[in-house]
Amino acid sequence: MGKILTKSILPNSTIGIIGGGQLGQMMAFEAKAMGYKVIILDPQENCSAAQVSDDQIVANYDDLEKLIELAKRCDVLTYEFENVDAKAINEVKKYTQVPQGTKALSVTQNRVSEKDFIEQSGFQTVPHVVIKNIFEYHRGIEKLTAPVILKTIRGGYDGKGQILIEDPDDVCYADIEELLMQGPCMLEKKINLKKEVSVVVSANSDGQTSIFPIIENVHRHNILHLSTCPAQLSEQASQHIYQVGETLAKELELVGTMCIEFFVSDDDEVFVNEIAPRPHNSGHLTIEACNISQFNSHIRGVCNLPMPEVELFKPALMVNLLGQHLENAKAELNLHPEWNFHDYGKDAIKENRKMGHITVLSDNLTQAKQAIENNPIWRV
Ligand code: ADP
Ligand code: MG
Repeated sequence: MGKILTKSILPNSTIGIIGGGQLGQMMAFEAKAMGYKVIILDPQENCSAAQVSDDQIVANYDDLEKLIELAKRCDVLTYEFENVDAKAINEVKKYTQVPQGTKALSVTQNRVSEKDFIEQSGFQTVPHVVIKNIFEYHRGIEKLTAPVILKTIRGGYDGKGQILIEDPDDVCYADIEELLMQGPCMLEKKINLKKEVSVVVSANSDGQTSIFPIIENVHRHNILHLSTCPAQLSEQASQHIYQVGETLAKELELVGTMCIEFFVSDDDEVFVNEIAPRPHNSGHLTIEACNISQFNSHIRGVCNLPMPEVELFKPALMVNLLGQHLENAKAELNLHPEWNFHDYGKDAIKENRKMGHITVLSDNLTQAKQAIENNPIWRV
């Protein structure tokens, strides 16, 4: 018997989710399976999450009146992405429980506060400087030395708002100026990557945690392409990464699911890249590969249900289906009984837009990876 938890929100209660993309959809699947009611707030009518939920409020994420309406209709409120307005969350807290609070949101919404927080917690980030203008850009390049990556401080995802500077004598200043017009930016030393990995951690309000096995990630054009689990890492690196996960979860007063991205350099140094205060694309394979998924643990977390120890049932890989892949993958589906196929039901198919994913469980990950990579679907 586990310990009795305080203030659990039990099935048949209503969960409100701000944001109706695939992360909201997969949260909703888990919530519905457990018997909760789910209401989505998203500007896109019949968005991915609304398709599997009880109701939707069609509104922009910053529409305070509609956020309050959502709050009044639900027993607990959560969000599927990090760009929710922390002030709005504080406002709606008057009407419903928002157990995630705003600390994780406000720390991770901004690359500067995120990196400061990681360093203050005792962990290493890649060398970086904050720049406000071209003069500071030149000073930054001198300090860090190329290659570097220029990144917007707020709102970037899937490599958006980033410029790679390999040779400072051969850059397009107009592009740099354009990023700087959006506000201060961060120059980061480009690391020679041996690999990228991530760790997903979930917690409930009573401070119990579930930590998932480390996942190894391959990006293409800065967008996640392939994830595999378990990651191939030294025992020392793995232990360090789990420790980062446990520590940052505590420091952020985590409730629900978060994911931490890491760089492992050529010479085996581990850097914390960034923190997503929500379920993460790399964690999708937990749906089939583990005893609980990152979405199940998110719902457990925000409803203050018990957090089990995570078990990986079988090695797994996940590949993303972007706009340019979806139709070809569907055409192949009946040839692949080993595929766990996910289509998020998005209306507009756009290039590089995440439309779905495939998970394969296999005792021979090398072979499974080869089979997936040799499929012509991902050549476009
Ligand atoms: P996003 O918010 O778009 O996910 P990231 O900072 O995680 O931004 O960058 C996306 C990807 O770009 C990373 O997963 C990595 O592959 C590459 N990248 C970003 N920063 C660096 C860096 N400093 N050194 C090497 N690769 C990087
Ligand atoms: Mg990232």
